[in-house]
Amino acid sequence: MSINKEKYREILKAIEGKAQLIAVSKTKPNEDILDLYKEGQRDFGENYVQELADKAVQLPTDIKWHFIGHLQSNKVKFIASFVHLIHGVDSLSLLKEINKQGQKNQRVIDCLLQIHIASEETKFGLDEIELNSIAEFISSSPLPFVQIKGLMGMASFSDNQQLVSDEFKQLKALYTKYAQSFHHPFSVLSMGMSGDYKIAIAEGSNAVRIGSLLFGARNYDK
Ligand SMILES: *Cc1c(COP(=O)(O)O)cnc(C)c1O
Repeated sequence: MSINKEKYREILKAIEGKAQLIAVSKTKPNEDILDLYKEGQRDFGENYVQELADKAVQLPTDIKWHFIGHLQSNKVKFIASFVHLIHGVDSLSLLKEINKQGQKNQRVIDCLLQIHIASEETKFGLDEIELNSIAEFISSSPLPFVQIKGLMGMASFSDNQQLVSDEFKQLKALYTKYAQSFHHPFSVLSMGMSGDYKIAIAEGSNAVRIGSLLFGARNYDK
């Protein structure tokens, strides 16, 4: 397999001045990551803790690694020393564990709260009531080794563009509503993947997570 450099240029052009690109390299070999790295890409996203930890020691140290999968509390320790941004935080207990591991490593770990926007049941994420209660908890008892930078969400996997765009609108509205509710104003709204990134940008995304358009279809998903 090899990367699609034309697509890479095309995506960069489409998001220029609006969003940053996180190249989702899960299940893809180091050679593919290095190919994109040589094109100038520095932000990469991974879903699996062990795979991310392995790649991080094998690949250039100036890569910014985004963890975009569902993170289990007992695995935070494996990525806490180097992860650039954790996109999928969906509980207060996970946030507390990230804070604890941040303290151990003496670094503040940047996080996004994942919001459930899709109509599908299977996707992880918080609803607004849970988001609100995390905001309230943190305002009274700060977690000094965590910084909430914004929100992340996944739209329904659907050909219905109206549905997808409504779901992104919903996320953007929450982003705006809660932008000042944490210790630092929000700066990252992570929404949009290979199939829907153009809609996401139109709805206000400033960070897209794109895998298969760049690296080709994945052979397996764990
Ligand atoms: C796999 C994945 C992506 C990228 O998906 P593509 O459709 O290949 O672009 C983006 N975000 C999350 C959370 C993912 O798990």
